[in-house]
Amino acid sequence: MSTDLFCEIIAGERPAHVVGADEVAVSFLDTRPVFKGHVLVVPRAHVETLTDLGDVGPFFERVQAMARAVEQGLEAGGTFVAMNNRISQSVAHLHVHVVPRNKKDGLRGFFWPRTTYDSAEEAQAYADLIAKAR
Ligand SMILES: [Zn+2]
Repeated sequence: MSTDLFCEIIAGERPAHVVGADEVAVSFLDTRPVFKGHVLVVPRAHVETLTDLGDVGPFFERVQAMARAVEQGLEAGGTFVAMNNRISQSVAHLHVHVVPRNKKDGLRGFFWPRTTYDSAEEAQAYADLIAKAR
């Protein structure tokens, strides 16, 4: 059994501002929010990344409900929903970020720089590699 910060929160061994919990997922405030009200939704079972998650349906129903709750509860204009897998993943227990967004909140586009494809052929080659792996 793996132990990490999120397993400790789920087990009630570490305090957190829990905003929702059931048999599938536990949701709580990120201690270092992008914006106040930034929630992390984590599966109750220890799973490291998206590709390790067996039945995705029930978990993403919780993510969807939390996106609705963050938007309505905070009267936000919208939300940003994201997940890091391995790279930039601070805790090795799957977690989906649900961040409240508002117009002119200062978060422009997002953190990462964007690039372009050199040609339509190069773009198609990337598309083919991904499509073949499905
Ligand atoms: Zn864990």
